[in-house]
Amino acid sequence: METIYIDGSRGEGGGQILRTSLTLACVTGKHLRMENIRSARRKPGLAKQHLSCVHASRQICDGQCRGDAIGSQVLDFQPGPVRSGDYSFDIGSAGSASLVIQTILPALFLAGKPSTVTVTGGTHNPWAPPFDFLREAFIPAIATAGFRADCRLIKHGFFPAGGGKITFEIQPRHESEDTAIDLCESISEAQIHARIYTARLPEHIAHKQKTLLRQSKLNIEHIEHVEVTDSDGPGNCLMISLVNKRTVIFTAFGMRRKPSRDVVDEAVTLASDFLTSGAAVDRYLADQLLIYMALSKAGQYTTNELSTHLTTNIETIKKFLPVDFKTEQQDGGYRVFCVPV
Ligand code: ATP
Repeated sequence: METIYIDGSRGEGGGQILRTSLTLACVTGKHLRMENIRSARRKPGLAKQHLSCVHASRQICDGQCRGDAIGSQVLDFQPGPVRSGDYSFDIGSAGSASLVIQTILPALFLAGKPSTVTVTGGTHNPWAPPFDFLREAFIPAIATAGFRADCRLIKHGFFPAGGGKITFEIQPRHESEDTAIDLCESISEAQIHARIYTARLPEHIAHKQKTLLRQSKLNIEHIEHVEVTDSDGPGNCLMISLVNKRTVIFTAFGMRRKPSRDVVDEAVTLASDFLTSGAAVDRYLADQLLIYMALSKAGQYTTNELSTHLTTNIETIKKFLPVDFKTEQQDGGYRVFCVPV
């Protein structure tokens, strides 16, 4: 049995190297030995979210692991055959539910029958894909390559309280759907929408953010305020969506002592820089699409930024699958494409 050795200190040095490795161990059936897990982080090793990813991966394939403990910087993971089914995972903290789902999705798409996955944890966390991003940007993007899922938010969970719940219905991918991601068309003619979430916060916060959005340099057509009433803790998150045939989403999080002006400026700057670049895919979706391109051994997109998450993810994927990724500089950004080796 082939063992893939992964050094978690390489590149970005965070949780994504672990998640991509778990995903591709499940997909390929290869034994994973990982060391220096999250060594570039202030508290290295497995945190609750990462441990949930390990256990979710183990459960969908009846695998075996050693080193699966909080703080562990070494992991051995021996996957078995992936089984579709109904799965439920509870992170037990505000760790991102989206990241747990993203870890096991590719293997379940390839498992032959439909699956349902429910995860309890954070649904709107800084430094992770918020649920709206999964539903409106990520799921439609991978569906273009035949990876189809429906998702539903059952309860919002804002960082740091968590306690949210999301559920995904995953369809098996059929060989006849073996198309590749091709997202190169600029989204520049987009309509611009904004959504403000507040939970357990004074009313004036959403009013202030609405006013600042109206005064911003973006021509925002519609601003929605969602007041979340069943949240376990406070939360404020602002999303700006660029919508034409597809949706690109930018998020900024409010937090204690962060002025609303900074929250609005952050999201507005991300969206307007992206619009100016003429790219099709934002920096976050750019690193998340790579696994799906690798599974098709093809695919391309344009993006305005090559993040270290992207370059590190390419390095990790190449350890498991016979593919390569090329990047070409273009006006306003880069074209990234996948080729078989
Ligand atoms: P660590 O604590 O080790 O940094 P982590 O497991 O929380 O780890 P990362 O390795 O930083 O995470 O990976 C975060 C993932 O979340 C990346 O795939 C990134 O694209 C995605 N992400 C972060 N912020 C956003 C956002 N605002 N919108 C969409 N996706 C996001």
